[in-house]
Amino acid sequence: MWADASDRKGIAYPDDFTEPKPGRLVQIAMNRRSFLTTGAAALAAATATLRAASAQAPAAADKVVKSAAEWKKVLTPEQYHVLREEGTERAFTSPLDKEKRKGTFVCAGCDLPLFTSETKYDSGTGWPSFWAPIPGAVATKVDFKLIYPRTEYHCRRCEGHQGHVFDDGPKPTGKRYCNNGVALKFIPA
Ligand SMILES: [Zn+2]
Repeated sequence: MWADASDRKGIAYPDDFTEPKPGRLVQIAMNRRSFLTTGAAALAAATATLRAASAQAPAAADKVVKSAAEWKKVLTPEQYHVLREEGTERAFTSPLDKEKRKGTFVCAGCDLPLFTSETKYDSGTGWPSFWAPIPGAVATKVDFKLIYPRTEYHCRRCEGHQGHVFDDGPKPTGKRYCNNGVALKFIPA
């Protein structure tokens, strides 16, 4: 702080002014050093805690992320339009609408299991419909593509758009997950 004598020009010092003793400066520096050391230790501990937390919840770590070009290589144009551009297939066009076998419906983008046949029902809309997803498999957001707000849902792992969820479903949830069949693959049990 006092390294440059020019810093003190023009400043009136009291007669009893004495410059800080080097010993005191060293003491301050040491205090700062121990603070930094403590801070570093705290940061290391926090990082370890975060690592442990992410080990328990692999949700964030197992994301499937691809560029548009990479998605186009592995998806059909119809799948790409629905999954990556939030498109909607024409009603009654998916063979999965009438699929009644036991099995699992997985994301057509990344194969994450999204629905089981136990929650599937015929809503009469022409789209495969379910009253509940597999817990933790999908995430939702509100969209305004049709002016009024709708709740869009997508695969939690690759964020591929699947469909919309409405409040006119059957018991026990009262929800209708209206899914594009082209965004799913069916794996018979
Ligand atoms: Zn997916």
